[in-house]
Amino acid sequence: MNKELQAWADKNITFVGNSNTNRSSRRGQVPEMIVNHISEGTISSVINWFTNEGNDVSSSHFAVDREGKVYQFVDIEDSAWANGLTGGIENATSSLVLKKGESISPNWYSVSVEHEGFYSETKGELTAAQLESSKILHHYIIEYVYDKFNFRIEPTRERIIGHNEVNKIDRVNCPGELFPFDEIINYLQSNTERFLDLHGHWAEDLIIKAHQEGWVKGYPDGTFRPDKPVTRAEVVAMISEK
Ligand SMILES: [Zn+2]
Repeated sequence: MNKELQAWADKNITFVGNSNTNRSSRRGQVPEMIVNHISEGTISSVINWFTNEGNDVSSSHFAVDREGKVYQFVDIEDSAWANGLTGGIENATSSLVLKKGESISPNWYSVSVEHEGFYSETKGELTAAQLESSKILHHYIIEYVYDKFNFRIEPTRERIIGHNEVNKIDRVNCPGELFPFDEIINYLQSNTERFLDLHGHWAEDLIIKAHQEGWVKGYPDGTFRPDKPVTRAEVVAMISEK
């Protein structure tokens, strides 16, 4: 986890889940996608509902309010109850959900983010503060999942999806057609470009700096292989590139 992102999370994410909050095991699945939602309620009603003992049907990992405040209800290590296949897999359009099939609940391999808003008012559009927080939260989730599960959620439209792609019948307006997927994905693509195998390496900061300045390249699979012996050709390429 990069230090700035961890500092952002420590400062900005408030954990409000309690013993009533619905959660369950991931059944051995890894979080492979982030599913975005619109809350159809105020943030206080969301917090009340996801911590209420009368709720035995739903929850979410996170919620981002209209002011950009972020709340967490369920640990990323656990499943939240936000993306069940209530209507069967024939209602899904997500290629990942279709590939996983009906016997694997999307709750087991997703991280859910609610956004405070009413579809009738916003069509899924976020406030500026809400969008800013949601972008950074997506980045945090990607880094967290990489650190804990050694799996990188690619910041593409296949992996950053809306609830309507899991359930196009009952949840057709979640998160809404104006939800800013492109802005979030563009942000992630320019901010998550790190080598997959550098986390915690003694030379991580130096290598990232050398890469940013164009002195060294990584491999096309997104790794750097920092401890691989260097060939003569690679040394020539390294020192002649700049
Ligand atoms: Zn939803």
